[in-house]
Amino acid sequence: MKNNCIFCAIAAGELPSFKIYEDDVVLAFLDINPFSNGHVLVIPKNHSEGLLDADDALLSDVIVRVKKVAMHIKESLSCDGFNILQNNGEAAGQTVKHLHFHIVPRLAGDDLRFVSAKGDMEKLAALAESLRMA
Ligand code: AMP
Ligand code: ZN
Repeated sequence: MKNNCIFCAIAAGELPSFKIYEDDVVLAFLDINPFSNGHVLVIPKNHSEGLLDADDALLSDVIVRVKKVAMHIKESLSCDGFNILQNNGEAAGQTVKHLHFHIVPRLAGDDLRFVSAKGDMEKLAALAESLRMA
């Protein structure tokens, strides 16, 4: 756990999140400024800043979880597709320096341009409740 890292604090349960999946390796929760309905972040519980400093064996475990959560989101929301985004470095738009994978649900013809809007906390709470995995 790294000091002053908000995703480490979320993983440790010290900050709240709209959690939908958790196991020993990752935590998945709703992005509070979503690109689309059901936009989820999957983070490893172990801190690394981005892809390049992450442990290879851990990455293998994480991507399998990304797949599992994406499958659940696709089935639950009946979306037509999804984007996986993973930003590294400020120049690439990374704002939180703890490795994370975005799962962004897509609908055919949604014309999404990756401009986020502030999320409605009540709607996010209800959505997280409906998406929570066993
Ligand atoms: P990135 O731009 O790839 O670093 O993405 C960071 C993402 O984390 C952004 O989409 C933010 O909306 C999201 N985010 C920041 N703080 C929180 C939080 N406390 N809970 C959920 N999502 C967050
Ligand atoms: Zn961290």
